[in-house]
Amino acid sequence: MTPHIHIIGAGMAGLAAAVRLAHLGPRVTVYEAAPRAGGRCRSYHDPQLDCVIDNGNHLLLSGNTAVMAYLDEIGAGDRLAGPPEAAFPFIDVTTGARWCVQPGAGVIPWWILNASRRVPETTAADYLSVLRVLRADERSTMADCVGTSGALYRRFWEPLTVGAINTAPARAAAALMRPVLRETFMKGAAACRPLVARNSLADTFVDPALAVLARAGVTVRLGTRVRAVHFEKDAVSALNIEGDIAAVNTNDIVILAVPPWIAETLVPDLKVPPPGEPIVNVHYRLKQPATPAGEVRIVGVIGGCAQWVFAHGDLASVTISAAAAVVDQPAEVLSANCWRDVALALELGNTAEPPARVVKERRATFDQTPEMQGLRPQAATACHNLLLAGDWTATGLPATIEGALRSGFKAAALAAQRAAADSKAA
Ligand SMILES: Cc1cc2nc3c(=O)[nH]c(=O)nc-3n(C[C@H](O)[C@H](O)[C@H](O)COP(=O)(O)OP(=O)(O)OC[C@H]3O[C@@H](n4cnc5c(N)ncnc54)[C@H](O)[C@@H]3O)c2cc1C
Repeated sequence: MTPHIHIIGAGMAGLAAAVRLAHLGPRVTVYEAAPRAGGRCRSYHDPQLDCVIDNGNHLLLSGNTAVMAYLDEIGAGDRLAGPPEAAFPFIDVTTGARWCVQPGAGVIPWWILNASRRVPETTAADYLSVLRVLRADERSTMADCVGTSGALYRRFWEPLTVGAINTAPARAAAALMRPVLRETFMKGAAACRPLVARNSLADTFVDPALAVLARAGVTVRLGTRVRAVHFEKDAVSALNIEGDIAAVNTNDIVILAVPPWIAETLVPDLKVPPPGEPIVNVHYRLKQPATPAGEVRIVGVIGGCAQWVFAHGDLASVTISAAAAVVDQPAEVLSANCWRDVALALELGNTAEPPARVVKERRATFDQTPEMQGLRPQAATACHNLLLAGDWTATGLPATIEGALRSGFKAAALAAQRAAADSKAA
């Protein structure tokens, strides 16, 4: 008999696994504790701004292969937006200087030889630090490889590290930057076009996936917390679903796709990496649209409170990653400080701060230091019908949508393999 696949958690990892296993239809059930799917990648209507906002701006790159595969599978390949080419405009708000980093088309980075395409006040030789990152051992931090001073550090390595790894270079694992560089910047412009959800994270990543699952007959139980996982010998034997005990047969499979701080409460003796730094986002409802509908403008900010500014029609949003130093500031202080950067970045002049919403995600990602990499478990566990998925499992990637989706695909592939092997044995 086809096994029942229980997927706990409907974040990116759980949804990716469910979409890949959707052909099993009613034999797949997804349990999500929150009233909506998406996890750390979610959208909701904000009453103060009277519009839909995301919990945080999520920046992707066109070289994110799992993102593209997932969007294709859920029929949402056209729901990303970004500039037409690989271009990263920056402003230094302390001096007003503006520049644009523009990787070239080829895999050989000739663009580094072109002063107008690279970071100002850097020389081509400075970029040899890329090689030190690519050769870094597992114990190295980004600062070990690229230092902590100079124009290239301040204007490229620091914002890239904080943005991609949500950790300051002095603590960020260099090993996590290797795949980011290899799969995007080192493949040329086609792989490093910046992209964001066209309308909202839910519209791009969540709602189309739920529609695919509904059409396939997969049950998605929102607002349904799995309170405990019961084990007998080396197998999951039952789930406590909101107080009801549901039996799990030994040939059924459980994919646990919850954050690490929940996983460790459900699986005895599971070692997980601890939470890392917070991410703060500030959303402003502008009086006038800053971009035409459906278009997005992305500006990197150096020397400010904001780090990245995203303009989407009449919504401007700011991201502050590795935000431990500012997360406890009152919301009105954060929004006022960031507004100065937004007005400069988007050339809005001396306009008064519009209505704002500050979203503080205190447990945005796991702690992405070299020491914690060894605590990231593989998808397969010692328990033969339990698989793990999530951005914190051993994907080799930073905690990103790309990593979460790959982990979900991997768990789905292992589940399908096991189901096939069990049915052969039977
Ligand atoms: C503010 C912010 C900004 C970010 N920016 C970026 C970015 O720019 N680019 C990028 O690629 N990534 C970014 N990320 C990271 C990205 O959002 C995550 O890596 C990804 O969403 C993690 O997905 P996941 O499925 O592994 O985990 P989660 O999203 O945490 O999903 C786990 C799900 O399990 C559910 N759950 C928990 N306990 C239970 C239970 N007992 N029973 C049932 N369900 C349960 C949760 O409610 C949740 O829905 C950002 C994250 C944040 C918070």
